[in-house]
Amino acid sequence: MFKKKCLENKPKKKINLLNFNLQKMINFVLQLGEKKFRAIQIMEWIYKKNCIKFENMNNLSNSLQEKLKRKSIIQLPYRINELKSTDGTIKWNFLFDTELIETIYIPEKKRATLCISSQAGCMLNCKFCATGKLGYTRNLLVSEIIGQIWYAINRINQHEKNTYILPSIKNIVMMGMGEPLLNLKNIIIVIDIILHKYGFNFSKNKVTLSTAGLVPAINKIAGKIDVSLAISLHASNDCIRNMIMPINKRYNIKMLLSSVKNYLDKSTANRGIVTIEYVMLLHINDCKNHAKELACLLKNIPCKINLIPWNSIKNSSYKCSSYDRITAFFEYLKKKGFVVTIRKNRGSDIQAACGQLTGTQDYFRKPINIFNS
Ligand code: SAH
Repeated sequence: MFKKKCLENKPKKKINLLNFNLQKMINFVLQLGEKKFRAIQIMEWIYKKNCIKFENMNNLSNSLQEKLKRKSIIQLPYRINELKSTDGTIKWNFLFDTELIETIYIPEKKRATLCISSQAGCMLNCKFCATGKLGYTRNLLVSEIIGQIWYAINRINQHEKNTYILPSIKNIVMMGMGEPLLNLKNIIIVIDIILHKYGFNFSKNKVTLSTAGLVPAINKIAGKIDVSLAISLHASNDCIRNMIMPINKRYNIKMLLSSVKNYLDKSTANRGIVTIEYVMLLHINDCKNHAKELACLLKNIPCKINLIPWNSIKNSSYKCSSYDRITAFFEYLKKKGFVVTIRKNRGSDIQAACGQLTGTQDYFRKPINIFNS
């Protein structure tokens, strides 16, 4: 009886509005007894006018503001650290409950890319990846993923008040911690908010979902989600891929490439081209025969190949391929008519490069003022 009373009196947890796409926001305002257009106004305050304080949303009636305050919050992730690399890359550490999550800002001359995390840790255990070695804790909520983007955009836009100018975020890549397709339910809503005109309003060509190859999920999103797709292939045959990416034992290369074709058939993002990511591991997947095999595998897939020099991680016996081997691999594929790029290593001095994200080492590092050049 006493227990029941306690439960009844327990204040209900307020819902974080960063969890809602437009449809969910509409449902929410209707439940509050408000008109549908209020949902659009709230979305515009959050995503266009960058305002997350109900009391400043001055086209909402006072009574609606009060209702919103009673039932909901707009809560950003708690940022515990900010590190800047000598090459300008910035890494933010966020704390979600007890989980440390990382988000990376990668500036070029005129535009920047934001790399966001979708899970705390990762369960796929790719052998060359530091996040994989962490193990898996949980999926991030929509609000935790959207919060990373909202925070980053607004943090970077503070440059207007500063003299040092940071390029604004034009691309979003889901290449941070975790496997986005294992958090599919939330990722579908996240992508809706990123692309929607009342959300962040990004072009689908500027948003990339990267996957290690969850074949059923790729088939499931084909025709439902339309953003640029990147596949972490990393091997030219099943034998090597089984060894370095355990997921290949469940979904082999043939199944993977057939799901990619299926996705591309229904997608117009990125001109119908998939990005094939290929990490360069010395004497594992980087000899001429591998390049030949890769060319053969990909001959009927509209793709761009991105060679990624392996970034070193602690306690690993892998080594990055030498410059000469990477160049030879690159030249072979180019000669075969592929569009090939070699990914620039960014942010490795602050452990912000691909595969280095663990969220753990930065607790005691000194934050750096990102607005100092
Ligand atoms: N789980 C998704 C999203 C992670 S994206 C995926 O696998 O695609 C991160 C990219 O960096 C992936 O292509 C991953 O395979 C690659 N990567 C992991 N560890 C790396 C390392 N040490 N050096 C370079 N790339 C790495």
